[in-house]
Parts: sequence; C-alpha cells; structure tokens
Amino acid sequence: MAVRPVLKAPDPKLTQRAKKVTSFDASLQALIEDMVETMHHVNGVGLAAPQIGVPLRLCVIQLPDTEELLVLANPEIVKTKGEREVSEGCLSVPGYRGNIKRALEVTVKGRDRYGKAIRLKATELLAQALEHELDHLNGILYIDHLESPEHLYKIEAQKEPEELA
Ligand SMILES: [Zn+2]
Repeated sequence: MAVRPVLKAPDPKLTQRAKKVTSFDASLQALIEDMVETMHHVNGVGLAAPQIGVPLRLCVIQLPDTEELLVLANPEIVKTKGEREVSEGCLSVPGYRGNIKRALEVTVKGRDRYGKAIRLKATELLAQALEHELDHLNGILYIDHLESPEHLYKIEAQKEPEELA
C-alpha cells in the first residue's frame, strides 16, 4: 500500500473521461488499497482514480466518523431528485471552496470491488460525495458547476479538516 500524490487543477488528467474497469483482479485491489490509504492520508471524504492519475471509472468514499467504506467501479447515476445549495471543496483544487447546486437524493448503480452489481440511494453528504466523485470520472470538477466566479472563495489552510476530494 502506498499514499499516491493527488493531482491538482489544471492538470489535464483531471479533465479526461475515465475508462471502464474491465478486470477486477489483484492489481485493481492493490489500486483500491492505495486509493483508500491516500484518501485517509489527506482527510478526504472520497477519492476518484483520475485524481491519482489513473484513468479508470473507480472511486472510494468514506464519510467522516464512519467505518463503512464504499468502493464503486463503473458507477452511473440512475436518478436524481430535488436540488439544494452546498458548500463544496476538492483536494484537486486546494485552498478554495465554492457554493454550487447538488441533488437532494441520488440513486447510483455500479460494481463493488469484486465486480458484483450494486445499487444505492443516498441523501445529504453521501449524495454530494457521489455526485462529486462521479464528476471526476467524467473529467468534471465542482468549479465547473459554479454559476458565478463570486461563488468561489478562498479558505485558510487547516480551516476545513474534511475535504470532499
Ligand atoms: Zn474532487
């Protein structure tokens, strides 16, 4: 296991569409372990493979103060419901947060780390994290959702202990 460097905008690898995971083999498991270790190291709520330079449709999410680790390969948003304004940050855009709109509820389907089909419905921070990480797989950053540059603001280092990643 190893902590990998997290790419920062405007790295071109962050704006590419990632490819489907086709093999759930030992090398994928090793990549997932590295992603989890990296996410914990940087206090992220989630991490998408393109953020460490791997162009695969794979992300990990672990909400603050929970043990449950979500590993999603080839995730797709099946349905969204409602809209709300959220404050969002990203480890690939350090030093900033922005106010954007996210869904109230999202339904996602995909595969777990062994290739088994999964489907989940989420609200609140998990819904936001799912939309954020799935965006990364399509080369989209939360700053692409800003309706105005005034909705982006600088934060002081260490002020926000949890970043979405
Ligand atoms: Zn991010």
